[in-house]
Amino acid sequence: MIDFELAPELYQRREMFRAVARDVMRPISREYDEREHEQPVKFWEMMWAASRQAEVKIGQVGRDEKRDEKKEPEQRNLATIVLTEELCWGDAGLYLSIPNPGLGGAAVAAAGTSEQKERFLKRFKDGAPKWGAMAITEPGCGSDSAAITTTARRDGDHWVINGTKIFCTAGEMAVEKSEGFVVVWATLDKSAGRAGIKPFVVEHHTPGMTVVRVEDKLGIRASDTAAIVFEDCRVPLDHILGSPEIRREGGFKDVMATFDATRPIVAAMAIGVGRAALDFVRDFLTQQNITIRYGLSPRRLSAVERDFMEMEVQIEAARLLTWRAAWMLDMGQRNSLEASMAKAKAGLAVTLITQKAVELMGPLGYSRRFLVEKWMRDAKINDIFEGTQQINLMIIARRILGYSSKELS
Ligand SMILES: Cc1cc2nc3c(=O)[nH]c(=O)nc-3n(C[C@H](O)[C@H](O)[C@H](O)COP(=O)(O)OP(=O)(O)OC[C@H]3O[C@@H](n4cnc5c(N)ncnc54)[C@H](O)[C@@H]3O)c2cc1C
Repeated sequence: MIDFELAPELYQRREMFRAVARDVMRPISREYDEREHEQPVKFWEMMWAASRQAEVKIGQVGRDEKRDEKKEPEQRNLATIVLTEELCWGDAGLYLSIPNPGLGGAAVAAAGTSEQKERFLKRFKDGAPKWGAMAITEPGCGSDSAAITTTARRDGDHWVINGTKIFCTAGEMAVEKSEGFVVVWATLDKSAGRAGIKPFVVEHHTPGMTVVRVEDKLGIRASDTAAIVFEDCRVPLDHILGSPEIRREGGFKDVMATFDATRPIVAAMAIGVGRAALDFVRDFLTQQNITIRYGLSPRRLSAVERDFMEMEVQIEAARLLTWRAAWMLDMGQRNSLEASMAKAKAGLAVTLITQKAVELMGPLGYSRRFLVEKWMRDAKINDIFEGTQQINLMIIARRILGYSSKELS
């Protein structure tokens, strides 16, 4: 039976993160939206200090394969999404700029050996976490990761990586501005299709890895998004995550397992932004003396009341799906279907909710005096990265109908 009862300690952490979101992130939200490529150094310092005590463990999420059935399950994944929602209520761009192993860390956690996890995810001596990024997308390949053209070839004791990656979240921080790492997806054998694709860890400042551009974006502008070129970039053999063997069956599934942990996190980001818009509209309506009358027949409700209730329903449905996906991971269960459901629902919900918020507020919703227009811009990314809306719907359909990726694409 699903149990969403949070541990008492998690309630306390949620309160703490709520205060950070309200008192630290919100006041600088507009500033870092407008000064896109400026680094929120003071904010980082504060978060580094805080994360030594209560880290958002994005790099340590994932399925607990060795879970002891007799012990209370740790709420690692559930905790991450509960806290992510709080911070993204504060500001989703700043949330993504918090020093963290991020998606790269999730890939190491999902596919790395214990030794690799220890090596690549180890914190610095002062307790601060490393920056991590994940580079899959290329100029000619996004949704269809089988089309990856970046290559890795063995040369003695090294892999030699060549190719171009674009739209890499936290790429600049991980590669050039800190001692972080990037997990790069490259093919060992193009003719093997998906089976030939493997993730490789490339550490900061490795010769041959260069950030060539940082994007100007619509939303989440406090987060850096980099294009990275790999030219004869050499990494030791033990930097491959998982086996170098090209297995036609199942090999790519292991690589994709990263998303089981990260899609619920993106869903939680979406819910945080959506809840920010919802709370703002609630306060706005209250100031206008508009009361939402719950319990009436839908025929007797005003259009505004119906719209507002619909926004609430969308958030709640997305949250329940997201908590379920995270809870399953904590229970050691495979959740690929549920992770895609959460991501697809939350990505669409936040897009609709924030647009509706702008609409309900009239011209003020479009003004930069308030953050509502920013939340509308920040919302859409949740429907794009970590698998677009369409791709997640296709994954859901495949899993429910029992089709392979060849049969339904
Ligand atoms: C701000 C930002 C940050 C990002 N961060 C990262 C990152 O850290 N690492 C990384 O590797 N990538 C990252 N990305 C890239 C992101 O993951 C891709 O943009 C996404 O996967 C979509 O790929 P694409 O842009 O090539 O679109 P395409 O794959 O070209 O798709 C274009 C449109 O067609 C639809 N479509 C494609 N195939 C199908 C199909 N078979 N059926 C139905 N519809 C389909 C898609 O849903 C989409 O709507 C980021 C992108 C942005 C904007």
